[in-house]
Amino acid sequence: TTPTEVDLIGKNEVLPIYKPREKFSHKGTFGHGLIIGGSYGKIGAVNLAGRGALGVGAGKVTAFTPKCGYIPLQSAFPELMLITDKDEEKLTKIEFDVDVNAIAFGVGAGTDQKTVSAFEAFLKSNTKPLVIDADGLNILAEHNNLLEFLPKRQTVLTPHPKELERLIGTWKDDFDKLDKAKAFSKKHQCIIVIKGANTITVAEDKLYVNVTGNPGLATAGTGDVLTGMILGLLTQGYDLLSATIFAVYLHGKAADLLVEELGYQSFIATHVVEGIPLAYLDLF
Ligand code: AMP
Ligand code: MG
Repeated sequence: TTPTEVDLIGKNEVLPIYKPREKFSHKGTFGHGLIIGGSYGKIGAVNLAGRGALGVGAGKVTAFTPKCGYIPLQSAFPELMLITDKDEEKLTKIEFDVDVNAIAFGVGAGTDQKTVSAFEAFLKSNTKPLVIDADGLNILAEHNNLLEFLPKRQTVLTPHPKELERLIGTWKDDFDKLDKAKAFSKKHQCIIVIKGANTITVAEDKLYVNVTGNPGLATAGTGDVLTGMILGLLTQGYDLLSATIFAVYLHGKAADLLVEELGYQSFIATHVVEGIPLAYLDLF
């Protein structure tokens, strides 16, 4: 085992990261994010990620989904722009002609062989900062050869425990898990967000332990919101590590502030989105 530096991330640590809005800003100032994901029956994941991205302040967000995403997203989410695949139900060819600052891949995407090929072709041509979550991680775990195409020092992976296990293998104990995650982060030059109670962000040898969040977050879709939040900070020009630890902090804080009113059991992913403004206001 290598010596590890560990930082706790709370309000005092994220305050210096925060960039206030300038009076003469416009939506172009805050960048444009692209969310690639969704499949038949899992379009909601894209909706949640989009709300996370706009919720933290992205200037514009476009989604790329299968055709079946068109009506639900365009009806329920007026702030979101949308480009669709030719396939009705799954991602088969990722083509977009918008200029974006950062991209998130994977929420609700499924792991169909055609989606795997589409992801591979996308990875080989992409140069933008990239957040990979959910089925994007599952595809990487199944197809290790794709790891070499991650943009170097520009990639954030956001696994929950099962996704992490598929990616780095099983571990003996928490120390072993962190060692394996550090080794993976170094080898592939990516940041890994190990999600759970006290989410740990792994950046090569450094660990950042988040202090916000609660068991109300253990519910469907909360991870999709986080993916969008990291994306939305990246589009605004936060560097990769700052965007990641700030998003993880705000996500947990959003949940903490709303759980006070709502309780754990009834808390759902939409409430995380509703809590983001409170989490920002709570910084001051
Ligand atoms: P996912 O499983 O991808 O939907 O992600 C779940 C999200 O909820 C992650 O951001 C986790 O860190 C968070 N989460 C899940 N369970 C807990 C818990 N018991 N305490 C705090 N956060 C949690
Ligand atoms: Mg998830």
